[in-house]
Amino acid sequence: MSFIEVSAESDFPIQNLPYGIFKHISHDVPRVGVAIGDFILDLSVIEQSGFFKDLTDHVFSKEYLNDFMALGFEIWNGVRQVIINLLSENSLLSENDELRKKSIFQMNECEMYLPVKINEFTDFYSSYNHAFNVGSLIRGPENAIMENWKHIPIAYHGRASSVIPSGVPIRRPLGQTKSADKELPDFGPSKRLDFELEMGFFVGTPNELGKNIPIEDTYKHIFGMVLVNDWSARDIQVWEYKPLGPFLSKNFATSISPWVVTLQALEEFRIQGMKQDPTPLPYLQLAGKNAYDIKLQVALKSDKMDNPRIISNSNSSHLYWNIFQQLAHHSINGCNMQTGDLLGSGTISGVEIDERGCLLEMTLLGKQSVRISDTEDRKFLEDGDTVILSGYCQGDNYRIGFGSVETRILPAIDL
Ligand code: MN
Repeated sequence: MSFIEVSAESDFPIQNLPYGIFKHISHDVPRVGVAIGDFILDLSVIEQSGFFKDLTDHVFSKEYLNDFMALGFEIWNGVRQVIINLLSENSLLSENDELRKKSIFQMNECEMYLPVKINEFTDFYSSYNHAFNVGSLIRGPENAIMENWKHIPIAYHGRASSVIPSGVPIRRPLGQTKSADKELPDFGPSKRLDFELEMGFFVGTPNELGKNIPIEDTYKHIFGMVLVNDWSARDIQVWEYKPLGPFLSKNFATSISPWVVTLQALEEFRIQGMKQDPTPLPYLQLAGKNAYDIKLQVALKSDKMDNPRIISNSNSSHLYWNIFQQLAHHSINGCNMQTGDLLGSGTISGVEIDERGCLLEMTLLGKQSVRISDTEDRKFLEDGDTVILSGYCQGDNYRIGFGSVETRILPAIDL
């Protein structure tokens, strides 16, 4: 129990303690904090007060988490224990009025920033239902899953520079599209803008070029997870992707939630993943519970609506390939993974229409509409729409939550 009161519905009880970069209205510069209930504990103040004996480099006064992430698994665990002790009932912090005043801030008086300086962004395609649904719509159910899919975690290299935090609006992208009934491509704002409900994880500690991260070691290299909205312009994508895959249809923006939830906080919510048949190659085999039971939700609010409406409920347990397999696979060729690399899961979909992680799947490639209010429906996103992804693990009277990633769509620039 914490001396700070936290409701059972809060995303941020003392069992969670996610890291983020924040700035209180009284601060000049951003710094590292952990969320606790409706408050943020300023770790730069705690560090300056000498509570972290193993830290030397003022890692919590930095504007990104990277320097802390690079210190490795043992340090992360040690720091987490110090923070748990400080926030527990009858702690030194609970009894020190002056230190509490300097280090604890109301979350609603703080601005959140991008938590990590993102080096590289890779996006997988690891949800079976998503791959099956999209494959079925395009190629029919018999050919939905490609022959490599159950052997190899499919991914592509995305773009890190356009990864943005929750709250930063995106502009509808301009681009080339080509309709089947026309001879030549058109140019203009995308008419098929879509969200993708994903989770992502950050690499904490790197591996050397030419060496891989064996799957048994991957856990210690992963710092934590965030919600990811991997924006997609479907009409641009379908024209540009042959033969090298997505490019401008994806790299205009990817939104992430501001709080990084550590694997230590998620430990109790590990579950058996989907059955993998055929058995993966040895370098991808890992015994035990390697999936996570994280409830995921998509809500949408148009300009005309007062409140968002939930349009989809999914769960990260729908992933076929788990995060340990993704990291082992990514580095098996000797690719050097670096501190701050973001690896996305791919769209996470369940079976039913209202469990799907993108509009492309919910509308059967734009053929039917999704109801978003009593007066409006959508095939794809419109200007002024706000998309809100959220997620949490349900414990016994507490939640390990991710907060949300909330993004409004602005009209395309007028050329
Ligand atoms: Mn994606």
